[in-house]
Amino acid sequence: MTPRSYDAIIVGGGHNGLVGGAYFARAGARTLVLEARPSVGGAADTSAPFPDHPDIKVTTYSYVMSLMPPTIIRELKLKEFGYKVTPFGPYYQAYPDGRAIKVFASDHARSHASIAQFSKKDAEKLPKWEAWLKGVADILGPLLLHVPPRLGSRAGRCATWGCAAWPTSPACSP
Ligand SMILES: Cc1cc2nc3c(=O)[nH]c(=O)nc-3n(C[C@H](O)[C@H](O)[C@H](O)COP(=O)(O)OP(=O)(O)OC[C@H]3O[C@@H](n4cnc5c(N)ncnc54)[C@H](O)[C@@H]3O)c2cc1C
Repeated sequence: MTPRSYDAIIVGGGHNGLVGGAYFARAGARTLVLEARPSVGGAADTSAPFPDHPDIKVTTYSYVMSLMPPTIIRELKLKEFGYKVTPFGPYYQAYPDGRAIKVFASDHARSHASIAQFSKKDAEKLPKWEAWLKGVADILGPLLLHVPPRLGSRAGRCATWGCAAWPTSPACSP
């Protein structure tokens, strides 16, 4: 038997392994993606977790596509291969007593009213928390398409992401 050789071997066929494999293959590398389970997709695959309702299919864990970079969708021509996003909303948390929290992406008044049923204090704090989360996303978002910096390294931060992203970093001090 002839031994096979590969330029790149990726262990794990979750969505990151698949995207990585696709980019290797796109660059002309002979690529192998190894997946332990019978299907690929990892935590982003589709499953039918309710034995009584096999027709109800859901993503196992990843249920929103907010972190999917448009660059990857475009470069890998995912739409031509069936990638399609169905917008849903609002975020919904049901409780056994029949009540529910609904968080609307762009209707702060309704989100406030829904959360205030449980805690007026939390409802008041929501905009502040969302602003904090946006600040984190503004820093982490651009990192998705960069080679991660070495842990502890300060080199390259300013050049890559700009000082505004690291206002407290000594490396970004003038
Ligand atoms: C509860 C929950 C909710 C989430 N919700 C979201 C969301 O809404 N949106 C979002 O973007 N992200 C969400 N995430 C995060 C998202 O699921 C992960 O970031 C994503 O699945 C990571 O992808 P991955 O390919 O790196 O790893 P995984 O999806 O974990 O895939 C790893 C794959 O590697 C395989 N594998 C492992 N070891 C081996 C081995 N030795 N040999 C062969 N194969 C192996 C596994 O079987 C698996 O298929 C959520 C995560 C959790 C836990």
